[in-house]
Amino acid sequence: MADRMTREQRHRCMSRIRGRDTKPELVVRRWLWRQGYRYRLYVKSLPGRPDIVMRKWRTVIFVNGCFWHGHECQKHRPATNAQFWREKIERNRERDARNQALLQAAGWNVIVVWECQLMPKRRMETLRELDLVLSRIVLDRTGTPHPYSWPEEDSNPAVAAETAPEYRPSKAISRKAPENKQ
Ligand SMILES: [Zn+2]
Repeated sequence: MADRMTREQRHRCMSRIRGRDTKPELVVRRWLWRQGYRYRLYVKSLPGRPDIVMRKWRTVIFVNGCFWHGHECQKHRPATNAQFWREKIERNRERDARNQALLQAAGWNVIVVWECQLMPKRRMETLRELDLVLSRIVLDRTGTPHPYSWPEEDSNPAVAAETAPEYRPSKAISRKAPENKQ
């Protein structure tokens, strides 16, 4: 009896399809933040409670675990209770598809990033793709590139000032000089 209880508990625990603050999610969030994108997390009022919601860009991002959401990369499923898992994962896939359709019907851009795409080997490529997709969304909505997309550019004025320090003192002096004479 006690044994069965723990197994049920384990199932209940493991069947939570959406964890919070998973490592793949943090990778995406940190990257977004650095790019200047701002977002909210786990918005319950939207279908599927998206992991990341960027209202300004009418965009949601799901960061999906490959096993729970039945990504095609998952070749082997657990041998025990194979049917149980197959059905469960199939239900998850159906629910995901339904939620995404609802979001799209309401005018949201829906982006799905898979856990396996954020493994170190493929991470950069995935984030570059994400950057392209988001840039296009921003461009479509505003007609201009995302202003915060490239934080490095913000610091360019400082760099420019640093590379041209010689002009400034001489200009300042020449401007002061007439005042001093009067
Ligand atoms: Zn995968």
